[in-house]
Amino acid sequence: MSIAEMKIKKFETGTCEQDNVFYQAMEEVIYSISPLLESDDKYAKYAILERLVVPDRIFKFKVTWMDDNQNIKVNTGYRVQFNNSLGPYKGGLRFHPSVNEGILKFLGFEQILKNALTGLPIGGGKGGSDFDPKGKSEFEVMKFCSAFMTELHKYIGPRIDIPAGDIGVGGREIGFLFGEYKKITSSYEGVLTGKPFMFGGSLMRPEATGYGTVYFTETMLEMEGKESLEGKICTVSGAGNVALHAIEKLQHLGAIPVTCSDSKGTIYDSRGVDLALLKELKLEKRVSLEEYINSHQEATYIPVSEYPEGAHAVWSIECYAAFPCATQNELNEIDAQNLISNGCVSVSEGANMPSTPHAIDAFLSHKICFAPAKAANAGGVAVSEFEMAQNASMSKWSFEEVDEKLKITMQQICKRVALTAKDYGVEGNYVDGANIAGFKKVADAMIAEGI
Ligand code: NDP
Repeated sequence: MSIAEMKIKKFETGTCEQDNVFYQAMEEVIYSISPLLESDDKYAKYAILERLVVPDRIFKFKVTWMDDNQNIKVNTGYRVQFNNSLGPYKGGLRFHPSVNEGILKFLGFEQILKNALTGLPIGGGKGGSDFDPKGKSEFEVMKFCSAFMTELHKYIGPRIDIPAGDIGVGGREIGFLFGEYKKITSSYEGVLTGKPFMFGGSLMRPEATGYGTVYFTETMLEMEGKESLEGKICTVSGAGNVALHAIEKLQHLGAIPVTCSDSKGTIYDSRGVDLALLKELKLEKRVSLEEYINSHQEATYIPVSEYPEGAHAVWSIECYAAFPCATQNELNEIDAQNLISNGCVSVSEGANMPSTPHAIDAFLSHKICFAPAKAANAGGVAVSEFEMAQNASMSKWSFEEVDEKLKITMQQICKRVALTAKDYGVEGNYVDGANIAGFKKVADAMIAEGI
């Protein structure tokens, strides 16, 4: 049975709608790990699957804050502590109006296996709020972050749970959250990662996820006997932290990334996107991508309303390698077919679960090199762990040192995933390889730790 068929079957039996993305992530893993479960009955004996899919605990709390016009606002905050068999809970915070418990359970579940794949001592968790930082003043973001931390600080700690950033949470938000934690606890400790460098952040943390995805892709292409990225047209979705740094690393390697997108539309610049301009628009001015064409009239801006029916504009553009780096389920079966018919050779997930199950089935059946998120975007959490190590030893590593460690980590993850796939009879299937390798590591620790 394919992943897509399993998903449909699950939905027919009825589940809470919010949990759809969680079931989607869970079912992919269950389907992938069946060769492992069949090869050793200890996983059934210790009920590992049943225990792994239930979070250790979920905190849900009210966040009350005041906007610049003295209006009182109420949002909901969450922290899902999913599994700490390999180390303290670790995973980002997402601030976006779409955030709910189901989305955070999906992200937390993925995070357990992703963190296991890094080989570093970290468990899995995730959190966030339905607060929308877009259109808010800096003071409003600061006030929200303070109010959020007033509650969150009760549940986290450098050896308990160490949150980081995700959609809507970058260095600015982490700085405000850290400041509030410090004020409440009078303690200066590495309780958050993704901090600005001046107070304990690691160099290269902002770049880590995007760079890591490209390092993974380079290794995967080499292992699969494909041509390198140099001189190749690449398509990237998103225009946030992950997308910008994937574009940057692609340019370092001599590739030509020609697209980026945000929630309102897509930019296609056939000469290669202007990264300096992108950074100015998205990191400094925080405005819509539409403004890109004010500086580059020869580029094309495609608003969401003009996307091809049922598809995403980015994936209809011809490319050698594609990098979905915006959000979950942003690349569907039609998009996958468009990429395949346009000769795309490789798809690497910078975002978490950007490809739908039908799209993944299409990539695998057409032998596209497909790098799943939990392996391909693990560079962010790896450098977060490096930040924890630097904080604990009161040291600071150079940019080059962190970059080299990141590159080696991504190469190791890629090789481990490929080898695991081969060992379990699914050579070239990085989805199954990643799920089996990550699951096995966590499951063996759970068994060793007792119930
Ligand atoms: P950012 O908030 O920096 O950027 C997100 C980008 O995606 C923005 O361009 C945003 O557009 C776009 N986007 C968000 N939601 C939607 C949507 N529903 N439809 C279309 N576009 C959307 O987030 P990150 O770059 O940090 O994260 C991107 C992805 O990578 C997420 O899946 C995240 O979980 C994953 N990830 C991030 C890591 C990190 O280190 N930051 C680590 C591992 C995974 P707009 O600006 O218009 O909202």
